Amino acid sequence: MNQEDGATRREAMMLGAGGLLALTPFDAPAFAMTGDMAGLPWANNAMRWAQVAFTEEDPPRYDPNFWFDMFKKTHVEAACLSAGGDIAFYPTQVPLHKRARDLGDRDMFGEMVKGARALKMSVIARVDPHAMSEEAFAAHPEWAACTEDGKPRRHWAAADMWVTCQNGGFMFDFMPAVLKEITDKYQPEGFFGNRWAGSGMCYCQTCRTKFRAATGMELPTTNDPQNPQRKAYIQWNADMRWKQFTLWNDTVSASKKDCFFSPNGGLNEPDKVMHPLIAVDRQGRSGTTPVWAMGKYAKQVRAYMQNLPVCGLFNVGIEDENRWKDSVQRGPELEAWAHSGIAQGFRPWYCKFNARIFDPRWVAPVTKIFQWHYANDKYMRNTANLARVAMINSTQSGIFTAGGTAFTAGDGVRAAQRVTDSQNGYYQALVEARIPFEMADDRQLEAQHIGRYRVLVMPDIAALSDKQCQQIRDFVQAGGRIVVTGETSLYDELGKRRANFGLADLFGCDYVKTENGVKNSYLTPRHPHPLTHGLEDAPRIIAATQQITVKPHDAAKQPLTLVPSYPDLPMERVYPMAEQTDTPMVFCREVGKGRVVYFPMDIDRTFWEVLAADHWVLLKNAVEWAADEPSPLTVTGAGILDVSYWRQRNSLAAHLVNMNNPMMMKGPYREIMPAGPYTVSLAVPAGAKVGAVKLLESGATPKTSRNGDRLVVEVPRIRLHEVVAVDLA
Ligand SMILES: [Zn+2]
Repeated sequence: MNQEDGATRREAMMLGAGGLLALTPFDAPAFAMTGDMAGLPWANNAMRWAQVAFTEEDPPRYDPNFWFDMFKKTHVEAACLSAGGDIAFYPTQVPLHKRARDLGDRDMFGEMVKGARALKMSVIARVDPHAMSEEAFAAHPEWAACTEDGKPRRHWAAADMWVTCQNGGFMFDFMPAVLKEITDKYQPEGFFGNRWAGSGMCYCQTCRTKFRAATGMELPTTNDPQNPQRKAYIQWNADMRWKQFTLWNDTVSASKKDCFFSPNGGLNEPDKVMHPLIAVDRQGRSGTTPVWAMGKYAKQVRAYMQNLPVCGLFNVGIEDENRWKDSVQRGPELEAWAHSGIAQGFRPWYCKFNARIFDPRWVAPVTKIFQWHYANDKYMRNTANLARVAMINSTQSGIFTAGGTAFTAGDGVRAAQRVTDSQNGYYQALVEARIPFEMADDRQLEAQHIGRYRVLVMPDIAALSDKQCQQIRDFVQAGGRIVVTGETSLYDELGKRRANFGLADLFGCDYVKTENGVKNSYLTPRHPHPLTHGLEDAPRIIAATQQITVKPHDAAKQPLTLVPSYPDLPMERVYPMAEQTDTPMVFCREVGKGRVVYFPMDIDRTFWEVLAADHWVLLKNAVEWAADEPSPLTVTGAGILDVSYWRQRNSLAAHLVNMNNPMMMKGPYREIMPAGPYTVSLAVPAGAKVGAVKLLESGATPKTSRNGDRLVVEVPRIRLHEVVAVDLA
């Protein structure tokens, strides 16, 4: 399968069986349907997943019946099981494919496959090719990854193993032989590749030679994405991963029709790649990860997978850089993380490292999550998300303006963290506002993908090509609305700075300069205006720390103006040079049939840093003013809920995840803290007849009423994740 074939195959799948892109006229134009699932029937039907990652000492010591019982209890329809790569868990005949230390005469992978098959489960074989044995290294020293000085890399954690090069014989000769053997012998539905793409830059002779042949350059020794060698390397590395991916896919599908290779982390090339499903490896929270992050990962990957299945892979243990791989999380944290993903469209996938059970405390909570999911299976088979707001997710802003490592923000090079922080800031604001929203992929901005949204939120989407700018312009011309912050469109798709914003015509201003680290600066809210509604009692609120000087195209009064930075010390000097100015810090504009809100500052990133409530009011008002229509779902009641609103074949489901917990922004949860009461108002598709309404967490039949075309549902209490399920008659 070459690149063109790949695109064609993906397109065929999107347009074929079930017609992913076919719009089904089930309701008013305010909603859009994306139709039934394309892809492989077995993958579409696998709603729940289990993964067991074996260790070398498992074969004589683990209890297979524990796992078959667990699979049954949790109603999983598919499993991912360790097969080989660096270490084999079956009697392999491939030379240098080292069998697990304690495998003996057994076939652990085969036993588990057989048991899973007896339960009518589908099986994905897990391979991990990032390391090789001493014997493999002795026979093929050229398979090892090398450091910059050309020395082969010993494995950082297992001293008797070596790190493999992603571009040499191990990946391109040895692994295809392993994949073919496993496919021939066990006929798995597919493969899951862990650490399949190498372990960072490799400077071996193979890499040097291949890179030189492809680009005429030497390998880069800097991460600066604006360095020409580095820029070429980013593209070359993507090409090599595509080659590896297609070779592995071709290998397994030649042995078994429709068998596929699914790379952990995806390929970053949505326009080329077709996977029948993707498992997103987000094992747990660490550091200051908000509990909604699992839902965010679901939205990010669904944005480019469209209606194909996406699985949220979580680990039963503590996820942390200290890597306590044999640890166990307590129930409340496991539940909160898994349900955060389920509410946003993930199919749950639990992962246990080590087939032996030292600490069984994870079993009951995981069983509970999966039994609930199974009991409500039909309401989890989503056919469309009904959100009218989408946040653009920009991979290229992260790669080409940031480089994947922390750079000092400067001309043409932006700090990586800025991209994520701006996104997280607006994400948090939308969660707090209870506005149901999706994410849209910046590589799929055609009307067929974004046309169903009313509002696109663009949190500092710095890198946009001319074509992407035109797609956004077309969206607004067609009546779409955008809410934009910071340096959006100031760089092209490869991170080269433009003289002016690519979208200056929409913003209503031209770029002059950016100032970072601005202290002690304020904003004056002007009234009355929908953008500043709720701030009528605030004569002055804090500004953001990155401010962009712009030249407005007209003299229109704007509802937010600047109080320029002034000394913050000594105290005697802490007074503004100007109490107020006419310098606009927002542009609220009607453009054709559309609307545009542009903030010339990093108000979303500052919100992520400070979480000031005044900023939240502005971020929320901006989306509501831009939308200028009732939200498909509203909730009244106290606290923070992460919401979503879905359509299934014959039902609607409004998900309300209770995030009211002191551990919301930094886990783990100690306990679930119920919240309520809430009143939920749902837009009902025109012509749809509401049948039974039930609450899937409490099991109760709620009090309901009608308000015009909306269904109003009383939800007295949410433990963790309530779902208002509405059958359509
Ligand atoms: Zn190499």
